[in-house]
Amino acid sequence: MTNHTIEHTIIIGAGPCGLAAAIELQREGIRPLIIEKRNIVHSITQYPTYMHFFSSPENLEIGDIPFTTANDKPSRLEALNYYRTAAQRHHVRVQPFETVLSITRTEEGFKLSGEDRFGSPRERYCRHVIIATGYFDHPNRLGIPGEEMDKVSHFFHEAHPYAGMEVAIIGGSNSAIDAALELERVGAKVTVIYRGSHYSSSIKPWVRPTFEGKVAKGSIAMKFASKVIEIADTHVVVQHEGGEEQLANDFILALTGFHPDRGFLMETGVTMEAEGYPTFDENTMETNVPGIYLAGVVASRHEANEIFIESGRFHGRKIVQHMLEQQK
Ligand SMILES: Cc1cc2nc3c(=O)[nH]c(=O)nc-3n(C[C@H](O)[C@H](O)[C@H](O)COP(=O)(O)OP(=O)(O)OC[C@H]3O[C@@H](n4cnc5c(N)ncnc54)[C@H](O)[C@@H]3O)c2cc1C
Repeated sequence: MTNHTIEHTIIIGAGPCGLAAAIELQREGIRPLIIEKRNIVHSITQYPTYMHFFSSPENLEIGDIPFTTANDKPSRLEALNYYRTAAQRHHVRVQPFETVLSITRTEEGFKLSGEDRFGSPRERYCRHVIIATGYFDHPNRLGIPGEEMDKVSHFFHEAHPYAGMEVAIIGGSNSAIDAALELERVGAKVTVIYRGSHYSSSIKPWVRPTFEGKVAKGSIAMKFASKVIEIADTHVVVQHEGGEEQLANDFILALTGFHPDRGFLMETGVTMEAEGYPTFDENTMETNVPGIYLAGVVASRHEANEIFIESGRFHGRKIVQHMLEQQK
């Protein structure tokens, strides 16, 4: 005899894809519980304060709630308002400020062990688990001497604190380009150090001409086919075809992307494919452990670039269809 509540489904993570999955399940009469270690769309709260999404608002919509924005692309603040409102309108059940640390099998399904924000243990029981934990807590590390210094950050919030400083941005994606432009505007001396030999094709086409103009004028320094190999108090060492070079430096923004942490997934028996992504059925999102599903960017490969909100928001639909078929 069990004396604890057994949820039909627990979703771990209240990002856009976890919320979308919850709403899809609700449409079919299942009322999942989301466990979220901070609060709704926590990852987006950590994005650069003044950023704009590259997606048009309609491509970020969940739960048939219209997303209208003042400009072509939503701002971070508009996205926070939107996802919070969508969750409220659909009465999604979210338990905020609780972290799931492990998943173990039980006779009825799964036990999720975790802790609340004061460190007190929490146990939850369910028949199905949807893991929608994203990737934003795990930046891709550089693995070079000096990376642990205070002057190095893997997150960019806003430019003001860097005014007048020598800032090296490592990376060549949209995050790096947007940060460089914002920093240049406040008078930081910006050098972008990128391992690629030409601009990334993923850079927003409407931003690239502005960036290239700044590079041509010399107000932003761009180093292609280069990598930082050492970070020191007042300089960095950059390696490129011509050899090694020492650059004066006050701050490093290492905007080198993120990767999902699948620790508890693997402990539960979910296997990893050679390419570095978890084993799951693309049609149902179920992993090799029956009853454990993936939603959102946690299902992507190491580089975590092929699943966005645009695509990950539909994972819940596949999951609930599979659940309904299983019940037949
Ligand atoms: C600067 C930037 C701009 C972007 N712009 C776009 C864009 O224009 N269009 C687009 O489609 N995508 C964009 N993306 C990508 C997009 O934001 C991600 O793909 C998206 O956040 C993935 O959603 P998710 O729900 O899978 O994960 P997340 O949004 O990362 O949500 C995961 C949630 O899980 C919680 N969590 C993690 N671990 C636990 C745990 N153990 N216990 C409990 N809770 C946990 C986290 O706190 C978080 O709230 C952008 C990303 C960045 C960084």
